[in-house]
Amino acid sequence: MKKTILITFSILFFICALPGQPSGGLKVLISVDMEGITGIVSHDECNPKAGDDYQYFRKIMTREANAAVEGALAAGATEIVVRDAHGSGRNIIPDLLHKNARLLRDWSLGPKEMMEGIDETFGAAVFIGYHASAGKPNANLEHTWSGRITDLKINGLSLPEAGLNALIAGHFNVPVVFISGDQAVCDQVRGLFGEIESVAVKQGIGAATLSLHPEVAAQQIKEGVEKALQNRGKYKPYKLTPPYKLVLTLKDEKMVDNGQYYPGAKRTGDWELTFESKDLMEVLKAFSGLQKAEN
Ligand SMILES: [Zn+2]
Repeated sequence: MKKTILITFSILFFICALPGQPSGGLKVLISVDMEGITGIVSHDECNPKAGDDYQYFRKIMTREANAAVEGALAAGATEIVVRDAHGSGRNIIPDLLHKNARLLRDWSLGPKEMMEGIDETFGAAVFIGYHASAGKPNANLEHTWSGRITDLKINGLSLPEAGLNALIAGHFNVPVVFISGDQAVCDQVRGLFGEIESVAVKQGIGAATLSLHPEVAAQQIKEGVEKALQNRGKYKPYKLTPPYKLVLTLKDEKMVDNGQYYPGAKRTGDWELTFESKDLMEVLKAFSGLQKAEN
């Protein structure tokens, strides 16, 4: 009997001690961009002004968010926040979203941006509909935030949005366990984080894409998220060593010129701004502020 109690306590301790498992259940943040959603091939299809095409693809975006929610629930998630992380932050259709998720829409003035809502109480983060960084070949709708940024580097490492967002999650000790998007972004994040569960829903061929059927993509996303969360103990939060040196290479004269007056930022080249801090949150605030400096 005593042995049974000891074993039971040992098992309980082991479960509670799993990395990425805060006490009180598993919280999952699902950050959903749009350019990497199945079938999308043009920026018009991600733009509310485009009308019917956008309305059609925001349903597919919602379906892929739901597939991730279903996978998370199957893996035992107790709380799920879906962060609408594209454009206006108002793309996912609220009443078509899974009832077990809460939806975070629009933007605060804070620096977490596409990861708004994340904190240390989350056990894992999931990226849906992501795309590669500006300049990647054979990528679909590749860009880095505003389209006015040619490259974003931290400590010499060129990062896609998924890379910076993983650093934000890592700041709160949350690992990114799954990504879906085009083949190029899946390859790019594997190069950065190493092991990660991924579903490439399409492949860029020049400006064209070869895409899975949306139902097949949704099924694979559900299964992939479930598997990733079941094995979440093997994923580490993504971190770089401080101090953090942010270098932005830009293609917008106004952004370079205005950005050099942001407190702490320096113009370090014709098209380059640099900001350095030991605190990642300060770097994120600067990045957020420098983007606003383009206007
Ligand atoms: Zn987007």
